[in-house]
Amino acid sequence: MSGILSIVATPIGNLEDITLRALRVLREAEAVIAEDTRRTAILLQRHGIARPVESCPAFREASACARVVERIAAGERLALVSDAGTPGISDPGARIVRACVARGLAVEVIPGPCAAVAALCGSGLPTHEFHFVGFLPPKAVARERRLRELATLPGTLVIYESPHRLCAMLGQAAGVFGARPAAVARELTKKFEEFRRGTSAELAAWFATHPPKGEIVFLVGPGHPEQRRPTSL
Ligand code: SAM
Repeated sequence: MSGILSIVATPIGNLEDITLRALRVLREAEAVIAEDTRRTAILLQRHGIARPVESCPAFREASACARVVERIAAGERLALVSDAGTPGISDPGARIVRACVARGLAVEVIPGPCAAVAALCGSGLPTHEFHFVGFLPPKAVARERRLRELATLPGTLVIYESPHRLCAMLGQAAGVFGARPAAVARELTKKFEEFRRGTSAELAAWFATHPPKGEIVFLVGPGHPEQRRPTSL
């Protein structure tokens, strides 16, 4: 049998959010290459899958990555998972995929949860064009500069943010994005899932008095009214 790297999306909170195909691929893999073996072990256990789970260095280090590539070249079927969501999306994964592609090895994707897409779809903001930003710089000056660059882009902006920085970032976003519609999606698929919508200033005011906890996506709608038109979809 020829080897393959399977990129497997896993839940972003609710353990039921895993596809039948993902479960089959995990069950059939020779090994699961994981960012955090304990976290992945919980998921596998929940679904009665007993496969070896190997830890993450292969994601990040060129030498370990090369070992994974050799194993696939030798015919192994390896599944790649991150802690949550889709590997490669603000998570390790791209390096190992690049290495497999460069070697001409088979790569397949088993699509599934991604916080950016879930947040966008529930935000009420335009979805026909969007720009995935990932995390902003942690330092205020660099963050402000980045927000100003992003403000010129068309479409909805999708930004990952930590709860500790949310209020500071929203304060800056209020100055940069003004009255543009925005949303915060928090704890998606979990017990305390929340969508809060308003301008960045309104969101800043809300979270100043309701300190946020958990995982957060911040979204800003397009600046130009033309780009805000509802699609027929
Ligand atoms: N690979 C993941 C994906 O496909 O979405 C993203 C991993 S990144 C390290 C983690 C960030 O994603 C969090 O800090 C948060 O911004 C966002 N995120 C992940 N899970 C989330 C959830 N359940 N609700 C809201 N945001 C989430």
